[in-house]
Amino acid sequence: MKSPPRLKGALIFKLEIGNWKNKYMKPVVIIGAGPSGLAAAYELAINSVPVVLIERLGQVGGLSRTIRNNGAHFDVGPHRFFTQNAEIHQLWEDILKENLLSVPRLTRIFYKNKFFYYPLAPMNAFFGVGPVSAAAIVTSYLSTRLSQRISPNEPKNFEEWVVNQFGRKLFETFFKTYTEKVWGIPCTQIGADWAGQRIKGLSLWTAVMNSIFKSKQKNIKTLVDEFVFPRGGAGFFYEGLASVVEDKGGKILLNRYAEGFRHEDSRIKSVILRNESGEREEIEGDAFLVSSPLSDGISGLTPEPPTEVTEAAKGLRYRSHLGVDMQVEGNPFPDNWIYVHSSDVKLARIANYRNFSQEMAGSDSTTPITVEYFCFPGDSVWERKDDELIDLARTELKHMKILQPDQVHSWFIVRNEKAYPVIEIGYESKIQILKSYIARFKNFQPIGRSGMFKYNNMDHAIMTGLLAARNYMGSKFDIWSVNIDAEYHESAEVPQKNHSQ
Ligand SMILES: Cc1cc2nc3c(=O)[nH]c(=O)nc-3n(C[C@H](O)[C@H](O)[C@H](O)COP(=O)(O)OP(=O)(O)OC[C@H]3O[C@@H](n4cnc5c(N)ncnc54)[C@H](O)[C@@H]3O)c2cc1C
Repeated sequence: MKSPPRLKGALIFKLEIGNWKNKYMKPVVIIGAGPSGLAAAYELAINSVPVVLIERLGQVGGLSRTIRNNGAHFDVGPHRFFTQNAEIHQLWEDILKENLLSVPRLTRIFYKNKFFYYPLAPMNAFFGVGPVSAAAIVTSYLSTRLSQRISPNEPKNFEEWVVNQFGRKLFETFFKTYTEKVWGIPCTQIGADWAGQRIKGLSLWTAVMNSIFKSKQKNIKTLVDEFVFPRGGAGFFYEGLASVVEDKGGKILLNRYAEGFRHEDSRIKSVILRNESGEREEIEGDAFLVSSPLSDGISGLTPEPPTEVTEAAKGLRYRSHLGVDMQVEGNPFPDNWIYVHSSDVKLARIANYRNFSQEMAGSDSTTPITVEYFCFPGDSVWERKDDELIDLARTELKHMKILQPDQVHSWFIVRNEKAYPVIEIGYESKIQILKSYIARFKNFQPIGRSGMFKYNNMDHAIMTGLLAARNYMGSKFDIWSVNIDAEYHESAEVPQKNHSQ
């Protein structure tokens, strides 16, 4: 996606979105029909607030959408539903009812031609790496713990965080290569707070205890061995939310790209859209909840923000996700997904949707899988043509002995730019500049993962949408504090929900 052009001189059609109870009423305009945008639209629509949802793609669900092809269902890589937030879980149940499945989790790491359970099972890891490496892992773990006891140090980056927690040898064996494939930068440049979010609460000791005693510590994220999941794929839930929005009178406009916002007197007046035919349209709104990437939102403002702000926006980097989606013969492996740490292949993960839900397979004899690559636009994988990508994926799967090239029946490529905000050292100061600039707009709220530049999972994205909608209706939540442990609930009351649908 290119940076939005400035709006001067553009021919723009005013789009009247009608039939609100009060014809002078302006709707709340939401950008992006992903989890955060849909959750916001849902909350507003069930409370009879006029709402218009703008989506660039031809379908809803964002990064959590489900793509149908040839009878099979593909998500954008594996999308496990997991939350510690009872309200979100209830929403999944309310929308999905009997279509919310309970799925056993099997995920393994592929490293040096061997499979290791993830979360790590010490006995499996011990026999997998062999006694010499296992002894080195234990020794390095014990010496790190000892030195941490004697002089604890605050980790400054991802590498130091993991080394402090697990020891250097385990970091090098099981964390380094995969993390660097995903983020495309050295682990020393990744912020320690990402590790804190991602693997918080897990230590080698916990992993050992878990493997021996089948841990009761269900709350530790990476130790969860079962998860809930929508029968038809992750996007099935978001399609359910979208139909409630439309039933309640909300409007969802697909295939429209929001390229800029006009503002005046500390208020956003309108959003400028480009439709499929390339025409520009303008929608005025009472408030704007924006889940498109934060940097795009800032650089699309007219009048333009000060240079310091536009420079901070340009300094935020996002990692893109490239999925080679295939329907393959049989079922090539039993895992929901496999993390591929080996550095002799470029692929980072393989998702198997039959192992999420039989219904996603669409046939008894084939299985939909996604071979996942993480890229910066412009790099050697991202720039390959589609048929070069399928060749790469086929060759790498053969090399890993996962499947033979002739087992691939059909395939297509899905590119998602700006899928992962890169939580690299120094990003916080840029976010601070952007946050303090946009705080002047009384009716503009970034929401969701790319919108707030946070490494959010679906449940956090949903929660930011719900809370932004509630703020519009009079509450005062600090949406920026929505985080992994749902701590925001402790400091603010959630208003009564209106369940009349
Ligand atoms: C490969 C992968 C695996 C993941 N696995 C999990 C998992 O297992 N569990 C989990 O909970 N989460 C997972 N996530 C995270 C999850 O996908 C996100 O947290 C969630 O989708 C974020 O929702 P959102 O609404 O903030 O953003 P998005 O899902 O990104 O939605 C934003 C929407 O805005 C649209 N948009 C963007 N710009 C514009 C514009 N200018 N105009 C109009 N529309 C625009 C986009 O097309 C998109 O539909 C995963 C993500 C990825 C990429």
